[in-house]
Amino acid sequence: MKTENISILGSTGSIGTQSIETAKKCGFGVAALAAYSNTDMIERQIRELHPKKAALVDERAAADLKIRVADTDTKVLSGIEGVCECAAEEEADTVVNAVVGMAGLRPTLAAVEAGKKIALANKETLVAGGMLVTKKAKEKNVSILPVDSEHSAIFQCLQGKPANRALKKIILTASGGPFFGKTREQLKGVTLADALNHPNWTMGQKITVDSATMMNKGLELIEAVWLFEVDPSKIEIVVHRESIIHSMVEYDDNAVIAQLGLPDMKIPIQYALTYPERIPSLTGELDLTEIGKLTFYKPDYDTFVCMDICREAIKKGGLFPAFANSANEQANLMFRQGKIGFLQIGELIEKAMLGAPKVSDYTADDIDEADSLARSLVIKYSEKR
Ligand code: NDP
Ligand code: MG
Repeated sequence: MKTENISILGSTGSIGTQSIETAKKCGFGVAALAAYSNTDMIERQIRELHPKKAALVDERAAADLKIRVADTDTKVLSGIEGVCECAAEEEADTVVNAVVGMAGLRPTLAAVEAGKKIALANKETLVAGGMLVTKKAKEKNVSILPVDSEHSAIFQCLQGKPANRALKKIILTASGGPFFGKTREQLKGVTLADALNHPNWTMGQKITVDSATMMNKGLELIEAVWLFEVDPSKIEIVVHRESIIHSMVEYDDNAVIAQLGLPDMKIPIQYALTYPERIPSLTGELDLTEIGKLTFYKPDYDTFVCMDICREAIKKGGLFPAFANSANEQANLMFRQGKIGFLQIGELIEKAMLGAPKVSDYTADDIDEADSLARSLVIKYSEKR
């Protein structure tokens, strides 16, 4: 397999660190690294991987990093502009975007503009700016390879599809998170620790809370609409508690193709990095006799309202999905800060959505404006209670 150079944005996070492990296993070089403020970890990564560039968004942390790694050949950059420069680093063939939140959108656009192949974990990029990103990717003839496990599964199930597609539907699987089977009454008093107790995956805090509210599945529905160019009505969400089937596609002849594997993000990360090839992986093998049984349930849309908020948002189009995403980023944060209860997350997003701007076309600046408005509405409504 051809050796590649990759840049990793969000290198200090859950996906970022697993991407580094995977890149090492594949024998790939690292051209650039970027994170928000974790100076200690990015310093260790710089000393081990010798990237050309490294960026921290936080200016003070970046100034500190610059002094710390002055003895290396790595150029230290700061701010979101620094992250965008890392995304466009000349030596990189592929950019792994593992930044959390819609802050990842500009770096994605910078990487696409520079003609890089994108291994995309940052789903908020497509939720907030799907139209901009996919349009530019087509213009620049750039591939966007999904890292999100469900989308990697769908992408794998679509390999070898007939030319006319004949795709009847996508079956997007969901673990159901830590609160599967609970009623709204039972969810009233749940704590952050309860929400972070995910049954199958160890991930960053934001996405773990999104999994507890099932907003994550709503965001993934929108992500799938953009990645696979399907109408939202063709995406069905099915709760699959074991997270062994990572998603499925159903063709017109009623044949259903599934992708299975242990719940380990290194599998989809590696596939995005080595596509279209496959090489041995760092992960364990799946033993179905050990798993024993696989179970499936309909989602509880009344309790977990965020899935329908997202479905409605993508049906309406324009800035609605960006608005839903930003309202969620704010409400998710406030729940993690102990400022609001768990059920308020969905309630506040629902309320904020009434203030979403109705436009069909938008720019990256419009998304930033919608972001500020959505966040301010969530804060305002949380104070009114
Ligand atoms: P983490 O919170 O573990 O890591 C986030 C990374 O992004 C860190 O490197 C962090 O830097 C950096 N970061 C935070 N804020 C900014 C910012 N404003 N600008 C630039 N960089 C920033 O998150 P995860 O790894 O869990 O998730 C990353 C993305 O991947 C998310 O979009 C998530 O939805 C998606 N994803 C994650 C999965 C998982 O298993 N974790 C599975 C599927 C998708 P610092 O450490 O300095 O704060
Ligand atoms: Mg996922």
